[in-house]
Amino acid sequence: MSFCSFFGGEIYKDHFKPGIYVCAKCKHPLFSSRSKYEHSSPWPAFIETLREDSVTKHMETLSAFKVLCGKCGNGLGHEFINDGPEEGQSRF
Ligand SMILES: [Zn+2]
Repeated sequence: MSFCSFFGGEIYKDHFKPGIYVCAKCKHPLFSSRSKYEHSSPWPAFIETLREDSVTKHMETLSAFKVLCGKCGNGLGHEFINDGPEEGQSRF
């Protein structure tokens, strides 16, 4: 299993190697490459986090949560509700 430093300034959009994406600050596991998918945005896109406690979320708007590392609180981006590849899925 490979560990990819993620959200650390480098963009792994075209990085589809199997592995776990971890917090750039504390190495807390965040996402699995299995939940990654192609999206038109310049950022990597995922449909779900690795575990329920991988991230903490704060509702920002009705359709978006602010997503932070579940361990150290490092800002990771957003979860967009119903914006995933299939209906009812989220995009991180
Ligand atoms: Zn962290």
